Amino acid sequence: MSARVAFVGLGVMGFPMAGHLKAKGYDVTVYNRTAAKAEEWVKKHGGKSAPTPAAAARDMDFVMTMVGNDDDVLAVTTGSDGVLAAMAKGAILVDHTTASADVARKVFGLAKDKGIAFIDAPVSGGQAGAENGKLTVMCGGESAPFDRAKPVMDSYARAVTLLGAAGAGQLTKMVNQVCIAGRVQGLAEGIAFAEKAGLDADLVLDVISKGAAQSWQMENRWKTMTEGHFTHGFAVNWMRKDLSICLETARANGAHLPVAALVDQFYSEIQAMGGQRWDTSSLIARLER
Ligand code: NAP
Repeated sequence: MSARVAFVGLGVMGFPMAGHLKAKGYDVTVYNRTAAKAEEWVKKHGGKSAPTPAAAARDMDFVMTMVGNDDDVLAVTTGSDGVLAAMAKGAILVDHTTASADVARKVFGLAKDKGIAFIDAPVSGGQAGAENGKLTVMCGGESAPFDRAKPVMDSYARAVTLLGAAGAGQLTKMVNQVCIAGRVQGLAEGIAFAEKAGLDADLVLDVISKGAAQSWQMENRWKTMTEGHFTHGFAVNWMRKDLSICLETARANGAHLPVAALVDQFYSEIQAMGGQRWDTSSLIARLER
């Protein structure tokens, strides 16, 4: 019999991720707060939907969650209708939300008290990575449950790695976001400079993307940035949520994040310009006002 998997949170990321599980032959039950989305998912993929996270999680071997922020993770895991209220001893809970390491450690402890394993497993790769099943998954937790859960996560990932104890997945995702913040700002400044200098920005970027300045952001975003299209990727509101987790964590551990702090403020200007749902490459918009 194929393993039973519940998936909680069918947003931009969760909807296609749960679809990959069904396509791989898992017995999938979904929950989504807005029920219409769960119905849409069942219509598209088959499987079942449940009225609460707890109902979805009952008798499951694995429960995956993909919601918004710390409070949402706590609501769907430790709330009265949360998955931990219903999961059986020996089952494994995997949270794919980008959240704080503190929340990961808290849920890990509460789950452990019930004999349930918890893995914090935020992802990188965006909507496209979720849709084509090529996410990078950064995990924290214990190795035995990780080894059991990895094949399930492989359904929608190209790399699934255990980086340390509970919280290590979230800390790794923070490193990812810190690296991206400065890189996108650098790219935005480069493009804006090229335009002011009277250069053909398209030609410039085509050339320098073959040299040392090359990056994923450059490869995938320079064309849309020069065209002013910001509708295809990771939303500014999500990035500010992530950077605030990074900055708070740095305050606690003594790391210095001056560029990430500055870029966070630039994103607040983008929000003030109406760009809450624009993608992160919209940093160029504040340079071209
Ligand atoms: P999204 O489209 O806004 O979806 C969020 C999902 O969580 C929705 O299904 C929402 O339900 C559910 N949800 C939120 N709060 C809830 C609560 N308190 N109780 C129950 N359900 C709740 O977001 P997303 O883009 O999929 O992102 C999800 C997570 O992945 C975030 O932590 C984000 O930072 C991270 N992430 C996103 C990307 C990306 O490119 N989008 C990339 C990497 C990581 P409703 O349908 O009812 O609103």
